[in-house]
Amino acid sequence: MRLGIDLDGVVANFNAGWIAFYNDEFGTSIPIDAVDSWDAIPGLTHFSSMPAFWRWAEHLDGASLFRHLDTFPGAVETLWGLAKRGHEIVILTTKPYWAIHDTFAWISERKLPTREVHILDDKWRIDCDVYLDDAPHNVYRIHRQRPDRVVVRFARPWNHPVPGTLEVEDWEQFEDLVLGLEAGHTSPG
Ligand SMILES: [Mg+2]
Repeated sequence: MRLGIDLDGVVANFNAGWIAFYNDEFGTSIPIDAVDSWDAIPGLTHFSSMPAFWRWAEHLDGASLFRHLDTFPGAVETLWGLAKRGHEIVILTTKPYWAIHDTFAWISERKLPTREVHILDDKWRIDCDVYLDDAPHNVYRIHRQRPDRVVVRFARPWNHPVPGTLEVEDWEQFEDLVLGLEAGHTSPG
C-alpha cells in the first residue's frame, strides 16, 4: 500500500524542537508538553503572530528549525519495518519555502525509508491508500476529498476526533493498523 506520512507532529517532534531553542535563547522555561491546541504558539511566547514566529524559526543555529528536529520514539523504526514489508512510504509535509532544502536534508540525515517526498498544502492531491497526519484540518480535508481511503489521525493534545477517520496513539498502533489492513481485518473508519 501507499502510506502517506506527515512529518511534523508525527515523525518529527516539532514542538520539543522549537521549545528547546526558544527556552535556550530567551531564558524561559516553557514545558516541552505545553502545546495543547493548534494555534498555541503566540499564547506561549512573546511572538504576537505566527509570521513573527516563523521569521525566528527560519534562522536557528545555522539552519532553520526543521533541520534540527528529533524524531518521535519508534517512528523511523516503524517506517522501516513497513517499507520492508513492501509498503511505499510517501512523505506528505507542509513547509515554508525556506525550509524545503532543510527538509530534504533532514529526511536524508534521519534515513527515512522513502523514495517519494511531497512538500505541499493539499495533501489529498497525492493518491495514497492510507494517510497519517496530526493536523485536524488535514485529517478532515483528506477524508472529505478521499472518503474511500483510510485516514488516520495521530492523536495529540492539539487535535480531536474527526468522524469517519481512525486514530492511533503511537507508532506501534499504526503498525498494527497497517497489518490489520493487509490482513483485511481493519476497515476505513
Ligand atoms: Mg503535522
